[in-house]
Amino acid sequence: MIPSSFEYVAPTSVEEAVKALVAGDGDAKVISGGQSLLPMMKLRLASPGTLVDINGIAGLDTLEEADGMLRIGALVRHGDLERSALIAERYPIILDAAQHIADPLIRNRGTFCGSVAHGDPAGDWATVAATLDAQLHAVGPKGAVTHSARDFQTSMFETQLGTDQILVEARIPCPKPGQGSAYLKIERKVGDYAAAAVGVMVVLAGDTITEASIGLTNVGPLTIHASAAAASLIGKSIGDAAALEEAGRLAMEASDPASDLRGPADYKKDLVRVLTKRALRKAGARAQGQEA
Ligand SMILES: Cc1cc2nc3c(=O)[nH]c(=O)nc-3n(C[C@H](O)[C@H](O)[C@H](O)COP(=O)(O)OP(=O)(O)OC[C@H]3O[C@@H](n4cnc5c(N)ncnc54)[C@H](O)[C@@H]3O)c2cc1C
Repeated sequence: MIPSSFEYVAPTSVEEAVKALVAGDGDAKVISGGQSLLPMMKLRLASPGTLVDINGIAGLDTLEEADGMLRIGALVRHGDLERSALIAERYPIILDAAQHIADPLIRNRGTFCGSVAHGDPAGDWATVAATLDAQLHAVGPKGAVTHSARDFQTSMFETQLGTDQILVEARIPCPKPGQGSAYLKIERKVGDYAAAAVGVMVVLAGDTITEASIGLTNVGPLTIHASAAAASLIGKSIGDAAALEEAGRLAMEASDPASDLRGPADYKKDLVRVLTKRALRKAGARAQGQEA
């Protein structure tokens, strides 16, 4: 289908873009990669009166570590993360996720921040952001505001972002000594959204887990931060099979998937249990330098 007609503006600064959003009075939308918004417009699931294209704004493509944080600017594409030497060396969970989002064409256009802003519980980046405790920096007419990725989504496809705000950057704490992470996703076919996926981060002192975080994708109306499952691991050995099993069980309890074309709810819940255990083992091996 063809989208309904809309105004198009291409600002060259964040301030101009915010002004255009304010002028749109709730009927303007930011477009970054366009890989979720354009399909929705073609299906007439979205009909914004104005598109505010942020692709011409300089400085939004930052991908670097600074002041103890990894900065991912609004125009950093999935493919930039997939191809980054910094990500490959320091953030295995991000590389895992980047390699399994959609297909290479979509990865060349879609952005990390656009995906998080979209508020889709099937989005892989929202889970990675919650697992790594990302801060989301937005700018609106009243200035800058920072949101925690862990409570950013408010309902399906809704976030704490106002209609006049732009998500300009995600900031993720740099890895600590002894940190390992992994993202495991089961998809029906290459390029599909997850039937279920799990992100894990652990910090180890020797074999002992001192910090843990677990995020779940597409197994509930929101991205899930499985905090009870993560808390159950503190003080346990990464080699303790019973502890990993219990974390898997608690993660499964935190999930609330619907039966659909990607499988029945019971199957997805069991995927969460199994993927959590596997991701913990992988993150642990990475923390101990035994696996890339
Ligand atoms: C066939 C197909 C398969 C896909 N498979 C996957 C998958 O496996 N995993 C996955 O995670 N995703 C998948 N996607 C979605 C893809 O990752 C999108 O790129 C992503 O969801 C949105 O990012 P974008 O930059 O393209 O955002 P856009 O499409 O430009 O925008 C999406 C929404 O976010 C808002 N927005 C965008 N950027 C900002 C910003 N900086 N500030 C404020 N609001 C903003 C827009 O207004 C819009 O409402 C798939 C898409 C397609 C078409």
